[in-house]
Amino acid sequence: MDSQIAIDFVVKYFYWAFLGWIFMTLIQRRHGNKGAKKRMAVLYQAILIFLIMVYATILKMNELTDVYLIIAAIAAILILYLGRKKILPYQRTCRECGKKMSFERVIYYDDPLCKEHDKEEIEILEEVKKKIEEIETEEKSSEDTE
Ligand SMILES: [Zn+2]
Repeated sequence: MDSQIAIDFVVKYFYWAFLGWIFMTLIQRRHGNKGAKKRMAVLYQAILIFLIMVYATILKMNELTDVYLIIAAIAAILILYLGRKKILPYQRTCRECGKKMSFERVIYYDDPLCKEHDKEEIEILEEVKKKIEEIETEEKSSEDTE
């Protein structure tokens, strides 16, 4: 373990991972308030990746070896474990029916509810349907008068 192979790997690829994670929070924004906790979680993950990258960079600058990365690995596992509710708030099944949820639901939505049990979303969809119907009937009546 007197090499710097792992350190080089972390310095190089954790930077790209960090950028990827930040990009992910931007994509999540379109889910608005329904995914605020999930967005914070990804941000925490990004911070953790960033800290590990900074630590590895410091090791490299001081010409320390891969052994010191074990400290970072243990610290990261401890942080993930202690903060798992905030950093890894993912559930695979619906709270109401216990069915497995889609990947999108697990990643983007705070409430662990499937499509059939997400009341808020059902209400929004019904409102959209109503609006579309209203617009369609308006168009028809304006065609009739022309
Ligand atoms: Zn359900």
